[in-house]
Order: sequence, then structure tokens, then C-alpha cells
Amino acid sequence: MAVKTPVKGPRSENSRDLQKSKDPKSSTAFKVVPMGIPNQAEAGQSASAQTAQKSIFDTIPIPLVLFLASPYLAGQTAEDALNLAQKLYKENKFSSTLDILGEDMSDDADCDASVEMYKHLIDAISKNPLPVTETRRQPTVSFKPSMFATTTPTTGQVRSVELDKAYDRIESVVEYASLRNVNVTLEAEDHRWADFQLETYHSLIASGYRNIGTVLQARLFRTEQDIKRFDDRMRTRLVIGIYNEPSAVAHTQKPIMKELMVKYSRELIARGTYVEFATHDTNCLQDFFQTVVIPDKVPTTAFETQYLHGVPRKRFQKSLISGEFFRRGPSYDARYEKQMKELADKGVLVRMYLPYGEGKIAGAYCRRRLKENPNMAIYGLKNLLHIDG
Ligand SMILES: Cc1cc2nc3c(=O)[nH]c(=O)nc-3n(C[C@H](O)[C@H](O)[C@H](O)COP(=O)(O)OP(=O)(O)OC[C@H]3O[C@@H](n4cnc5c(N)ncnc54)[C@H](O)[C@@H]3O)c2cc1C
Repeated sequence: MAVKTPVKGPRSENSRDLQKSKDPKSSTAFKVVPMGIPNQAEAGQSASAQTAQKSIFDTIPIPLVLFLASPYLAGQTAEDALNLAQKLYKENKFSSTLDILGEDMSDDADCDASVEMYKHLIDAISKNPLPVTETRRQPTVSFKPSMFATTTPTTGQVRSVELDKAYDRIESVVEYASLRNVNVTLEAEDHRWADFQLETYHSLIASGYRNIGTVLQARLFRTEQDIKRFDDRMRTRLVIGIYNEPSAVAHTQKPIMKELMVKYSRELIARGTYVEFATHDTNCLQDFFQTVVIPDKVPTTAFETQYLHGVPRKRFQKSLISGEFFRRGPSYDARYEKQMKELADKGVLVRMYLPYGEGKIAGAYCRRRLKENPNMAIYGLKNLLHIDG
């Protein structure tokens, strides 16, 4: 994707300031009542509240947690992760997105350090480009809003002194990356973050940045409305969502989330949004090809597929890149012959998610993910045994 230097609009024109000006009573925090999402008490226990409770995973020593998580981790430094990204491209033509592990910072110094770490990563990426001309194949950067914030928003909250600082930090990373032609993705966290994440995203788009994408979670009820704001200036990673959300705000059945992922991908592509279809469920990805990409004749430049590094899917991923998957796939209606040929000739972009971080931080982060989703322990063991899916 082409990355342009941003045209910065005056802050008063962006949606955040307009929202604030409607609330004369509040000098700092402005609360949006988001589309049908109840507040914390109504919604029940949040993912983070669950995480705060004691669990068996608290008793597992960090070195063991790190051992379980080792197939997913790309090292401790930006250089480790970038070396891996280059190796993956050289050996398999896999693209990558690099993520620094960490979330829920406790003070401003930590948040400022996140900015500096991301700038260092962006420098490393821009100084070591892959030998490929198509910009979208270059490594990208992913970050969580909470890496830059000392507070967690309450549901619907997009502004406060702390959140404004987080916005400024995120913008400074996005601007730095934009000037160096590096694409970035603002990730999704649990539902309390969704308004801040999406308002920040749309505000940055309104300010002229074209190097930023974001994440939408099929799990959340609100996503059905959220996708209506997306257009051809935007890029979206579509996932089911990793956080165990309360049933008041989210679907709880995976098959439903997967059906919605496919449905939303079609709507987003129709809106001109670049879609990053991120699932390890091969059947769900097949549905995406069979019911969206092939019948809608979606060009291979309009989407990509994404995976967590370390989830064993290598044979399948390589067949997507080479186009082999489409050559040996089921026969299709003759009307789609041209589309099948394009897929078989060009193949599909596959991107790996490469998280990295210093041992203690990475261990604590992985422990929180295990507590939220104990299946990760079984997945981790399967990975260590190299069971390919
Ligand atoms: C590139 C990428 C970025 C993501 N970014 C975000 C984000 O910003 N916010 C967010 O909320 N979620 C994010 N996720 C996580 C996502 O929401 C899902 O929780 C995760 O992908 C598992 O769902 P699934 O679609 O693979 O289906 P599942 O039904 O969970 O998995 C299908 C099969 O894949 C295998 N599998 C799945 N996960 C793993 C694993 N960790 N290790 C080994 N095997 C596994 C299992 O065999 C499983 O049966 C991201 C996922 C990917 C791939």
C-alpha cells in the first residue's frame, strides 16, 4: 500500500475535539454512550477482572510460561524479531508484523518508553527493507493502545487527561512510521478499549495518515455497526477476538464468530477497505475464499491472510503463497475460471505476527493470555510437539 506523508488537520476539526466540545460539564473525561454496549457493571465481569483473579497459571514459574510460549515469540529485541522476519521472508516468502509485548502501563515513563521502543523498531525496519518492491509485503508494526496509556478507559470513554496523552503518543508513533514508509496497526483489546481504539483510528485517518490500520473483532456485537465507518482509506485485521467477553456485549459461540468474520470481510471489501483475514481455522479461511474472494472476484491485492508465528500451518501457508492451494482446490463454476487462475498464478499474501520482548515482561504477558484463555496451554504444547494443522 502506498504510504503518504500525513496532512495534519487542526485538532479542533477532528472528532475527538468535537465530542469534547459537546460536554461543557466535563473538563477532562468525555463519555460516549457507544452502540448498545452496557457499562462495566451491566456487562458483568471483564476479561481483565478475570485475569486479576488467582488462577493455576499464577503458580507456574515464568521460565515455564516462557517455555510454553516459546514457539510464538520472536526473541527479546527488535533486532531478533527483524532477523526472524527476514529469515521467514527469505525461506518462505512470509511477510511479518512485529509487536512489542506489554500492556497496561503503570506510569508515564513506561508509556514514553513504549514510544521510543516503537520508534527504534520502525527505524530498524526502514533501514533494512526486504528485497521486494510491493510495499505491502514489507514488515509492519502492531501495537496495543494500552502500551501508551496509564489508565484503562471505562466502556465508552474516549477522552481523559491520560487518554489524551495516550492519543498523542500513538500519533507520534504513527507519524514517525509514516515518514519512514512503515505501515502500523492499532490493535484491539477487551471491549472497554474499543471506543478509544476506534475513535483514535478514525481521528488519525481524518488527520491524513494512510499508513495505519486497525483490528475489528467479530466477537463483539458492536462490530456490525463499526464496519459501517470503514472505507477505501483504511485497512483492517479481522479476528474473532481473543478476550473472553461477557455475553452482554459479545457472541460466545465460535462458529457464529467465524460466520460473522466472513460476512464482515465481504462488507469491508465492498467498502474498499483492505482486509487482513487473521484466523488459524482453515475451514473459516476456505469459506472466505469460497463465498467472498472467488464469487466477488476480489483481486489478490485487496486482502491478505495473517497467522500467529509458531502456530503450525506451514504447508498450508506455503500453498497459499505459491497458489498451489487454488490449483488443487475443488472445481468451481466456469464463471470463476479467470478468478481461480489469478489466485493460482499470483497466490495470496501470508503475514506472520511476531511478538517479542524482554523475558520478564514477555513472561508476564504470556501468563495473562494463558489465564484469559487456558486453551493456549494445550495449543502451546501441541506447538512444541510440532503438530501441523
Ligand atoms: C495475526 C493475528 C493478530 C491478532 N490480533 C488480535 C488483536 O489485535 N486482538 C484480539 O483480540 N485478537 C487478536 N488475535 C487473536 C484472534 O482474535 C483469535 O483469538 C485467534 O486467532 C484464535 O482464533 P482462530 O480464528 O484462529 O480460531 P480458533 O477456533 O481459536 O482456532 C482454530 C484452530 O487453530 C489453532 N490455534 C488457534 N490459536 C492457536 C494458538 N495460539 N496456538 C496454537 N494453535 C492455535 C487450534 O488448532 C484451533 O483449533 C490475532 C490473531 C492473529 C492470527
